Amino acid sequence: MTDSTDPTPLPAPPGDMPPEEFRRHAHAVVDWMADYLAHAGEYPVLAQVQPGDVAARLPASAPAEGEPVDDILRDFRDVIVPGMTHWNHPDFFAYFAITAAGPGILGEMLSAALNNNAMLWRSGPAPTELEERTLDWLRQLMGLPAGFHGTIQDTASISTLIAIAAARDAAGLGVREEGMSGRDLPRLRVYASEEVHSSIDKAGITLGLGRSGTRKIPTDAEFRMDPAALEAAIEEDRAAGIRPLAVVASVGTTSTSSIDPVPAIADTCERHGLWLHVDAAYGGSAALVPEMRHVLDGAERADSLVVNPHKWMFVPIDCSVLFSRRPDVIRRAFSLVPEYLWTPEGETVTNLMDYGPALGKRFRSLKLWMTLRYFGAEGMAARIREHVRLARGFAEWVRAEPGWEVMAPVPFSLVVFRHAPRGMTDEETDAHNERVMAAVNATGRSYLSHTRVRGRLALRLAVGNLRTTEEHVRAAWTLLRETVANVRATA
Ligand code: PLP
Repeated sequence: MTDSTDPTPLPAPPGDMPPEEFRRHAHAVVDWMADYLAHAGEYPVLAQVQPGDVAARLPASAPAEGEPVDDILRDFRDVIVPGMTHWNHPDFFAYFAITAAGPGILGEMLSAALNNNAMLWRSGPAPTELEERTLDWLRQLMGLPAGFHGTIQDTASISTLIAIAAARDAAGLGVREEGMSGRDLPRLRVYASEEVHSSIDKAGITLGLGRSGTRKIPTDAEFRMDPAALEAAIEEDRAAGIRPLAVVASVGTTSTSSIDPVPAIADTCERHGLWLHVDAAYGGSAALVPEMRHVLDGAERADSLVVNPHKWMFVPIDCSVLFSRRPDVIRRAFSLVPEYLWTPEGETVTNLMDYGPALGKRFRSLKLWMTLRYFGAEGMAARIREHVRLARGFAEWVRAEPGWEVMAPVPFSLVVFRHAPRGMTDEETDAHNERVMAAVNATGRSYLSHTRVRGRLALRLAVGNLRTTEEHVRAAWTLLRETVANVRATA
């Protein structure tokens, strides 16, 4: 019998995937992931698809009704995976090779489940405090002095953007309140070597300095910024009424992995009262190797430094760290607290939203923490050291082979080289190397990328994947030499 006073039962809410269904599919997904990681080297490293191939296999509109996970995962395997270039592949040598190592993947999985947004301390106490503690571990491992405070950003481009914005704020021009247009402001300048990564130019574009706001300083024979030329450029700009803001020194440039003379650049910055930002997005990881710590000499004097654990610390992308000796300036540049984000603990805690343009803050420190703990300082150093050994070994093979040349020093795990047979003009040599690279990459057996060194096309082989062994590097070298023979035969 029903009581007439009983409320009408509410309809069940549409809700999430039921827990048991989640458990079943999660196990299957983890099994797939473990198999994938165990056999990553069996896929073509560079996706063997043409532009539009993947899109052509995807429906133009979303389904009106939900679909079973088994069907979705089938399409993941059949449509998505064949369209992947595999960055976790041991034969991936392009750009800067990276690894999403097991412990970091586990961290990402947990982070996705927790779905935390640590914009405020209270909205994510553990993520906030874990981020600060883990980055202090990293600071120590890199040999940076106490006082450098770190935050995690998604990419180095954003870390650098924040650093340059802080430099602009530190110059006391009132840009935060008044903006940059319609007022009497001098032209502002940032200085960096001609080898600097494009993210520095992009920061200038975004912050209203324009492309001409980044002045490129010439480099020496080893692609390092010339500090005398930097000094002269600053003097010249000052005399012309331009306001210098900051200098970006690189520790590991993208093209050749050169290391700017940071101590001399720090002297110049001190003399002129300029912000020193060090772009160690790639090279900074090498400081985890005790005998390579010198690569950061002078960086202890920087106002800010970026290093990307997602580049060479085996943490799944994305995880960039911005260290700064002046977090108060970054905070002053970016903190803005509307009523709906006010909390009573306010100034007594770290609210991560205060340290950059983004409000939302993904729980990225978990994957870094798990990676550092799983490998330990010695394990990290051993892995980075091995990559350097493999790259230097490859460079030796190239140097020893007639007709081939290494085009830049190898301070880290990147080798820049080309095949330069006698009798070819510069342009012919460029075209020849382009053909060689295209042919190698088309095999799907190795993946290399290229750059220009003093205007000439150069191939880049970067070692950075934990599955890469000497056998893989040797296979790339064999493939390159076979390809050269074939390309010449058919040219
Ligand atoms: N700085 C250097 C030296 C780099 O090599 C790169 C990318 O390769 C970046 C900055 C930009 O990194 P991200 O992709 O994290 O923005």
